[in-house]
Amino acid sequence: MPFHERNNLRYYSFDIFSNAVTQAVFTRRGGVSPAPWQSLNLGGSVGDDPLHVAENRIRIFDALGRAPASIHDVWLVHGTDIVYADAPRPLDKHPERADIILTDNPEVSLFMRFADCVPLLFHDPKKHVIGISHAGWMGTVKGVATTTIEAMQTRYGCKPEDVQAGIGPSIGVDHYEVGEDVVSQFREKYGRDAERILQERNGSHYLDLWAANLIQLQNAGVEQVQVSGVCTACHLDDWFSHRAEKGKTGRFGALMALA
Ligand SMILES: [Zn+2]
Repeated sequence: MPFHERNNLRYYSFDIFSNAVTQAVFTRRGGVSPAPWQSLNLGGSVGDDPLHVAENRIRIFDALGRAPASIHDVWLVHGTDIVYADAPRPLDKHPERADIILTDNPEVSLFMRFADCVPLLFHDPKKHVIGISHAGWMGTVKGVATTTIEAMQTRYGCKPEDVQAGIGPSIGVDHYEVGEDVVSQFREKYGRDAERILQERNGSHYLDLWAANLIQLQNAGVEQVQVSGVCTACHLDDWFSHRAEKGKTGRFGALMALA
C-alpha cells in the first residue's frame, strides 16, 4: 500500500524504492496551519505564519526519523538547474535557485515543496544516489527529467537502466486544462509523442504531465518507473492544489534520504 500514517501524518511512499531509501510525499494532514493552508503547509512564501511552517517541517522530519538540520532544499524557479547536495544546506544561507537536487551523502535529507507540479524521485541502488526534481509544465517543457538523468550519469556514473524513478502526486490530466501557448510548446518539444500527452475535450486542451515525464525518462533509458497516478486536484482532503484552490493554498513536501 502506498499510503502510510505515522504521528498523525499521512504520506505516500513509492513501492519501487527499496528500504535503502527513506522517502515520503506528505499529504496536507496532521499539521498546525489554519485555512487556507490547512494543515501541514511546508511553503514559506504562501502567506502562512513562519512559525507554523517551521513546526510542520519538524513534524515531517520527526515522522521519518531524520534530523531537521540534515535538510537540503532549493528555491524552485521552474528551470533545469541542479544542486549537488554534498552536505546539508548551511541554515544561515538561503536555498539556491534550482529545480533538481541530487546527493550520494546519507547525512543529507533532500526536501522539496509542491502543489500540483510533478515530484520526480530518483534512486540508483548501485551507485547509492538519490534525487528529487520539480516538474511543472515549464520545467517539463525544458526537459527537467532528462537533465536529471544526464546529471546522475555525468556526476555519479549512474546507468539509466539502474535508476528507479517515481512520478508523484500532482495534477492529473483530468484537471489540467491548458491554453494554446502551452499546447504549442509541447507539440514543438515532443513532436509525434505530443499526441500521447495532450488530450482534447469539447474544444479544450488537457495536458498529461505524468505521460510527458514518463516519456522523457524512457527516452533517457530509464526502465523502472512508478507513476503514482494520484491527482492533487481530485483529492483536496489530502493535497494542496494550486489550480483547484485558485492559488490560495499551501505546499506539501517530499522528503528523501539514503538509509
Ligand atoms: Zn483530477
